[in-house]
Amino acid sequence: MNITVIGAGAMGNGIAHVFAMKNYKVNLVDISQDTLDKALKTIEKNLDRMVKKERISEADKSATLGNITTFTELSEAVKTADLVVEAATENVDLKLKIFAQMDEHAPANAILATNTSSISITQIAAVTKRPEQVIGMHFMNPVPVMKLVEVIRGYATSDTVTQTVMDMSKNLGKIPVEVNDYPGFVANRILMPMINEAIITLHEGVAGVEEIDTVMKLGMAHPMGPLQLADFIGLDVCLSIMRVLHDGFGNPKYAPCPLLVNMVTAGKLGRKSGEGFYAYTPGSKELVVASSFQK
Ligand code: NAD
Repeated sequence: MNITVIGAGAMGNGIAHVFAMKNYKVNLVDISQDTLDKALKTIEKNLDRMVKKERISEADKSATLGNITTFTELSEAVKTADLVVEAATENVDLKLKIFAQMDEHAPANAILATNTSSISITQIAAVTKRPEQVIGMHFMNPVPVMKLVEVIRGYATSDTVTQTVMDMSKNLGKIPVEVNDYPGFVANRILMPMINEAIITLHEGVAGVEEIDTVMKLGMAHPMGPLQLADFIGLDVCLSIMRVLHDGFGNPKYAPCPLLVNMVTAGKLGRKSGEGFYAYTPGSKELVVASSFQK
């Protein structure tokens, strides 16, 4: 089976990795050749780690890398796809444009899936001529490690397509959970207001970055505090999800914290930009609170 993954950022490279490891042929597309080169390096590094832990052999690593071909032209990359998984930037207009293009160039029987964190599957499906073949396939970050795939049925998604995507997720070694298409689905409807509340708690001066994260780690047995998790996800992604919840439900309880808005406007996007609530030095695993939040 041929898989095309659109977008080779944090999620796209992980999605390509897990499909390629299970011997699917993967076409990985991005508008930036530089991002594609980086994605291949990241996949190789992650495979090296698995070889070191003796979870896969050198031959498995080479076979996995050999299953991935990179493209900068979407129309070429989707031509032979059985399943397309779109993991481009979280932006409605961009996703609508990409889905219209995918619909035009992918084979008529191909399933068109999106890894969106929060954008309506029904709205995305509506720009295609095959809404029954459009579905949410929401992987968690980091994709090679996290077990869950939230499978989201749009208004028109067929039973057959849902079953195929559930089965394929299981075949990747994941645990799929089927949910319906409402803002934030299940994962982000619950997670993101918690992260936003942690940012409000910081903004109001109730406690500092380390204190908030420590309370949630030690008190609730979360593996990572909410502010560290926000940096890991990307503050721009967090903000766009809060906006989808706010617009979708029209309830002020989902209003994004002004501090989150300011940080994104200032380009402080978390780990990927080098600074968010914490400051990140390449090669260092030490967690250091960003200078703006130090006491
Ligand atoms: P990212 O910013 O790391 O990567 C997005 C990539 O899309 C970039 O490399 C960009 O060049 C590429 N892109 C933009 N326009 C494109 C186009 N027209 N064609 C091809 N590629 C294009 O973002 P990410 O964190 O990987 O998120 C991708 C998707 O996954 C989003 O929908 C996001 O909501 C979702 N998601 C993110 C996380 C997370 O923790 N980051 C978790 C689950 C789902």
